[in-house]
Amino acid sequence: MKGYSAQVYENLSKKYPWEKEFLQAANEVLESLEILMEKEPKYQKYAILERIVEPERTIIFRVPWLDDSGKIQINIGYRVEFNSAIGPYKGGLRFHPTVNLGILKFLGFEQVLKNSLTSLPMGGGKGGSNFDPKGKSDNEVMKFCQSFMSELFRHIGADTDVPAGDIGVGGREIGFLFGQYRKLRNEFTGVFTGKGLNWGGSLIRPEATGYGCTYFAEEMLKTQKKAFAGMTVAISGSGNVSQYATEKVMQLGGKVVSLSDSEGTIYDKNGLNKEKWAFMMELKNVKRGRIKEMVNKFPEIKFYGGKKPWNVGKIDIAMPCATQNEIDENDAKDLIKNGCICVSEGANMPSTPEAIEVFLANKVLYGPGKAANAGGVSTSGLEMSQNSMRYGWTREEVDSKLHNIMINIHNSCFNAAKEFGTPGNYVNGANIAGFKKVADAMIDQGLI
Ligand code: NAP
Repeated sequence: MKGYSAQVYENLSKKYPWEKEFLQAANEVLESLEILMEKEPKYQKYAILERIVEPERTIIFRVPWLDDSGKIQINIGYRVEFNSAIGPYKGGLRFHPTVNLGILKFLGFEQVLKNSLTSLPMGGGKGGSNFDPKGKSDNEVMKFCQSFMSELFRHIGADTDVPAGDIGVGGREIGFLFGQYRKLRNEFTGVFTGKGLNWGGSLIRPEATGYGCTYFAEEMLKTQKKAFAGMTVAISGSGNVSQYATEKVMQLGGKVVSLSDSEGTIYDKNGLNKEKWAFMMELKNVKRGRIKEMVNKFPEIKFYGGKKPWNVGKIDIAMPCATQNEIDENDAKDLIKNGCICVSEGANMPSTPEAIEVFLANKVLYGPGKAANAGGVSTSGLEMSQNSMRYGWTREEVDSKLHNIMINIHNSCFNAAKEFGTPGNYVNGANIAGFKKVADAMIDQGLI
């Protein structure tokens, strides 16, 4: 990295040396923006890079709650309100023991550019807690959510900051959080997305991130006159994003051979089908079981404890949908060796910088998370519109809007990459296209 971008990154890394995920995300973006900074000196004049890497506001709070044995538990709650230049802060809540400020800053920063790419009026934010819903009773999850919201409600609102789900925050958690918000505020507004269908949710929102990530891959494949039909697809994770990526890939004629969780990977050489998918949905969303339990019902499926899905056999397309840094340099090399031609990221920052280098050097169609997984927040934007209108669109209407948004995001990234002299580099394309809109809005609105 050189010039203005390098200078900003150096200062940032001195200021927050312990926030390694945030520095990783900032480094990737600043590096892509180098070309733009050379062309457009106004961004340096207005100190846009120094400003855009700092959240507008960060809220950190104590979350006390009583577990089922009557013992007091304390967790930490966060909301990082990163940038509201183009709309209210928007981004999910993550409940996972690894959550800390550096991880939420990385997610919030990515969200700013991602939301800009959707072309909808949404700023960027992210929040969560180091609370682990795994192994907790419904009652404990509810008590935690109510306590978390007893502080967060002061800082959010339909026109201020609109949270949603992420790892560990699904329909159940959003219900408890929204219920407490409504009680404390005495108002029913679109303050959350990912809500239940009976209380303001949008059709297709649960499906949106996985479907969108598949639509994005489909667009990348089209640039090489290829399609999903007949392709072997490795998907990681088995949560919300993975579940619906699997469904859409199967609908498009792809063969999904793997899913995973933090204990290991399942491999099905015949590919999942509707029956196996339905079993997995019940297992993960109702029984809250582990992915290895698939083997008990379907003996042809193999389980590899402690393994990731990137080296289990031939793979044409990889869709990492679990968590950050789940594909390292060696995994990327394995994927190339196994024949991978396309990577579409359902998770946020699932590939390390070294892995991305391997993909780009091998001319893999590589769709970075901030573009490829933007379908979730796009449909959240559509949920906000429906809430404002007090009207609901049909499943087909929402899916078709989502599909169009993903095509447009793909084209914006593709065109920006070409315009700035790096054709086919979706990393540069996504970072430049996402950045420009927010940066120009910040200049228009003065020094605030
Ligand atoms: P989720 O429903 O909670 O599922 C997460 C999945 O990833 C689970 O299978 C989980 O396995 C696995 N996982 C989590 N941490 C892991 C780790 N350290 N090692 C291995 N596996 C791990 O979450 P989600 O909503 O699908 O989100 C998945 C990814 O997509 C995240 O990066 C999230 O930021 C991103 N994303 C989500 C949305 C959305 O709309 N939900 C939108 C954009 C991006 P265990 O059960 O074993 O933990």
